[in-house]
Amino acid sequence: MKSSAVYERLQTRLRDVTNLRAAAAVLEWDQEVNMPPKGTDARGRQLGTLNAHAHTLFTCEETGDLISQAGEDAEHLDPDARSLVNEAAYDYDRARRIPEVFVRRFSEARSRAYQAWLEARKRSDFALFLPHLETIVRLCREEAEYLGYRENPYDALLEGYERGMTTAELRRIFSVLGTSQRELTARIGAAQESPGPDWLRQSWDVNRQWEFSLRVLRDMGYDFDAGRQDRSAHPFTTNFSIHDVRITTRLSEDDFFSALFSSIHEGGHALYEQGFREEDEGLLLAAAPSLGMHESQSRLWENLIGRSLAFWTHYLPTLRELYPGQLDRVGAEQLYRAANRVSPSLIRVEADECTYNLHIILRFELEVALIEGNLAVADVPAAWNEKMKRYLGVIVPNDALGCLQDIHWSHGSFGYFPTYALGNLYAAQLFNTMKQEVPGFDAQIERGEFRGCLDWLRSRIHRTGRRKTAIEIIHEATGTPPEPGVFLAYLESKYGSLYNLG
Ligand code: ZN
Repeated sequence: MKSSAVYERLQTRLRDVTNLRAAAAVLEWDQEVNMPPKGTDARGRQLGTLNAHAHTLFTCEETGDLISQAGEDAEHLDPDARSLVNEAAYDYDRARRIPEVFVRRFSEARSRAYQAWLEARKRSDFALFLPHLETIVRLCREEAEYLGYRENPYDALLEGYERGMTTAELRRIFSVLGTSQRELTARIGAAQESPGPDWLRQSWDVNRQWEFSLRVLRDMGYDFDAGRQDRSAHPFTTNFSIHDVRITTRLSEDDFFSALFSSIHEGGHALYEQGFREEDEGLLLAAAPSLGMHESQSRLWENLIGRSLAFWTHYLPTLRELYPGQLDRVGAEQLYRAANRVSPSLIRVEADECTYNLHIILRFELEVALIEGNLAVADVPAAWNEKMKRYLGVIVPNDALGCLQDIHWSHGSFGYFPTYALGNLYAAQLFNTMKQEVPGFDAQIERGEFRGCLDWLRSRIHRTGRRKTAIEIIHEATGTPPEPGVFLAYLESKYGSLYNLG
């Protein structure tokens, strides 16, 4: 067959796989947003069928033949087509290393572990989860052997979330981050007057919160003709196409910030998905190269823009109109301070910018020790509690607020947590360069103009899709590879002046 014909057949195959996965994603979105509770079992079967078909269609011999034939003729292909063939070969090779029987065993163990985790967390009883977590750890170690690695079995798992990143490199980065962030948090703790400001303890109309979140999303450049916002218990972003990228948020009457920051965070993810190239639609290149890269987009919008003084200066008049009489004596500076309160806490998802990575470092260290075989699952609660005390200075009262708080281990997602911290580092590096390259950046944000920011992200990050790895993209966009220094300098400068640390 001629090379162009092979390549076209490969494209068709990849689009078919993407279509099946997108159909499954629509069902998942519906499950979280609309579905009545009794629909759960049938929905599970429908998703199982669709996902199995997508997996089989992608991993079958025929797809492998198309990829290798297209690869043999790679010199006749243009650079984009070559990137597509390379990425398909990478995904195919990784998927084929795992035996079909193992995939099924792992998937069954995960659904049992998830049910056990729900119950264990509800009763705050780690013993209920223990045997399941032991199985999950054993299976993850087995998976690492199938996938292969050079130095550390954890590298094999990490590769699935942050390609090219290694355990050794993370240890280096996290040791710098951990020391500096613990020290900064301690200095802030000594300088902070608690509790928070009185004006925050009011009731905030949820319809107004909803209206405000839509306004900010529109200002950010989120295209509502190619997306929508709904409510769900746990906010998320999903996409069925670059022209249909949906987000969710949650509303709480006594929390002024929660819905807004959820919306901005998911909006950051969604802008990335809406920003891939039209010609990549339905193909592997219309995707982020890693979870850390995806998270950098949400955190850049949420923390570096949404928690800036310029942002609150712009939106103060809007907020005073939305909440008549409730913010009369509150200035932009006070909103900014309230949005950036630092307080070491038990729960990762509620953590502030100064302490968030410490939660991640703790989980990374436990995960590596478990996968290396240096920590018994039975010893996880004690190890968790000891690290919480040492890193954050907080005492864990029970396992529900400790090692049972996250869903990830029950899903078998070992290697996922570090991508949250990497997202913070990438975001700070990108933001730092963007500020230098976009003229009058702060003044633009103060006017509520985010076009300069979005255009910069579109050209440097979004349009690349998966053509390069996250590490390459960061290096090219900022001039340096991923490193902790820029993020730490940002924290030091922002919180140093917020808390007069001198
Ligand atoms: Zn996120």
